[in-house]
Amino acid sequence: MGESLFLMSSVLFLPSSSLRLRGKTFLGNKENSKEYPSYLELEKKGTLSERLEKLYSIYESCHLCPRDCRINRREGQTGKCQGTSRVKISSAVPSFDEESPLVVKSGSGAIFFSNCGLRSVYSQNYKISIKGEGVEISDQRLAEEMIKLQKKRCHNINLVTPTHYVPNIVSAIQKAIPLGLRIPIVYNTRGYEKQETLQLLDGIIDIYLPECKYIDSEQAGIYSAEAYNYPHHAKLALKEMYRQVGDLKLDSGGIAARGLIVRHLILPNRVAGTKEFLRFVAENLSKTTYINIMNQYQPEYKALEYPEIARRIKRSEYAEALKWAKKYGLTRLAR
Ligand code: SF4
Repeated sequence: MGESLFLMSSVLFLPSSSLRLRGKTFLGNKENSKEYPSYLELEKKGTLSERLEKLYSIYESCHLCPRDCRINRREGQTGKCQGTSRVKISSAVPSFDEESPLVVKSGSGAIFFSNCGLRSVYSQNYKISIKGEGVEISDQRLAEEMIKLQKKRCHNINLVTPTHYVPNIVSAIQKAIPLGLRIPIVYNTRGYEKQETLQLLDGIIDIYLPECKYIDSEQAGIYSAEAYNYPHHAKLALKEMYRQVGDLKLDSGGIAARGLIVRHLILPNRVAGTKEFLRFVAENLSKTTYINIMNQYQPEYKALEYPEIARRIKRSEYAEALKWAKKYGLTRLAR
């Protein structure tokens, strides 16, 4: 996806002297002396093991996400997401379909996780997220998949729908460090996150890529399996992610190094609450938040059973979204 910027001056670049990729250090201002990517610093301090212990204990009464199922996944029980404590993936491949700072030349190393706690009726990849297509693998094998993607020169490891497998993912990152993992981790989520879980990822994730699907709880309940608490948790999650990583920063080659990219899929008939979402970002994050307003909605899966969302969006619906972004002073939009 290409990007266009309303105001070029708002782009945040790190000078080449202040950021070097692949395990070197930030040398400039606030990031001074920090190891990069950030997970290297945590591993050096021994913090990654502590986080891992806490995360795996959550599986015993799972409350990783706002569904709060409280079942023991270590004993093979499954909750709303259908995941056990063994990670399941459908593929691990270089992807060129992400936002341009993630893709640049060699692509984003996308690992698609099977299952999902949100279970939207219009899920665009329901075979993986709802039908659960994929294979179960060990955390060690997941680490090896990360290394393979790095060897293919991908610019990052892009975890697609990772929420329900966070313990396995952190375990795999730790196992991948001695194997040579040195590219940043992208946490690519549907936005249905618990603030407490995100806090355990602080310093592990360099790039957050959340979607904000709804601002209205009624709509969230109707279209995402009674997730009435989606807007409450998504707003807290966006604030927490922004607190951790701030605005998106690029290196001198235009590659995403650290920061927040927020996606928003416009749904027909204003179901996604686009105007309120954009106002929320402008008032609670920053006007230089990198936002991808997506216009590619198609009525997949069960969407045709819901008249309000049983069509693609109109040009006028996309145009009004861009108009609102401008109205709220948001200056950094992908297209
Ligand atoms: S991660 Fe899965 S089992 Fe755990 S609370 Fe969420 S939906 Fe339930």
